[in-house]
Amino acid sequence: MRLRNKPWAQDKIDQHPQFVIPNPETLKGKWQEVFEKQQPLQIEIGSGKGRFITEMAKAHPEINYIGIELSKSVLVAALDRVIEANLPNVKLLNVNANELETFFEKKEVDRIYLNFSDPWPKSRHEKRRLTYKTYLKMYENILKSGGEIHFKTDNQGLFEYSLMSFSAYGLLLKYISLDLHTSHFEGNIMTEYEQKFSEKGNRIYRCEVQFQ
Ligand code: SAM
Repeated sequence: MRLRNKPWAQDKIDQHPQFVIPNPETLKGKWQEVFEKQQPLQIEIGSGKGRFITEMAKAHPEINYIGIELSKSVLVAALDRVIEANLPNVKLLNVNANELETFFEKKEVDRIYLNFSDPWPKSRHEKRRLTYKTYLKMYENILKSGGEIHFKTDNQGLFEYSLMSFSAYGLLLKYISLDLHTSHFEGNIMTEYEQKFSEKGNRIYRCEVQFQ
């Protein structure tokens, strides 16, 4: 995601600790205490400008959501949405997903969303893809038994790679759409990238996979 560096982003993040949780490692195993209601916890990795996680939180008050975003300059756009929505069931973390197990206890999370993850097309960058096997191992650890990953992308290469990676890992491929917007899938919430790329005519791929 190309965005201007925003030197004020850290200050803005610091001013809203009720929405962008500081020191998240201290909450490992205790995320239910952060929310008003104890209910299933779903996380989005690489939540970008936050439309998906905020709209999901509006549509599903019975779920707690955490959006994880590495870039401060991007996260502040999500923070604006979360401030505006002022919902009790959505929080943001400004951390790197490669440290997920520092922040979440084993079996603490009910579902993981990956939306339009960076494709890292060069094979020497395979390990950086959020569907590479070392990430899958982390997801398996923090997810409850039978936990799912829901993945969307417009990048055919990343989608095909990810299906192979999921399958090689032993995940159950529960649902696959090669054209989400003409499929019968109901309740889709568009991400910022999804809107942009589908308006350009790109097909959107989506799958749901489950650890067994
Ligand atoms: N999901 C959003 C959407 O669909 O509009 C944003 C997609 S953008 C291509 C990918 C986002 O993932 C970027 O904002 C990037 O900063 C974030 N990201 C990439 N690697 C990450 C990581 N290891 N941990 C957390 N966020 C990451």
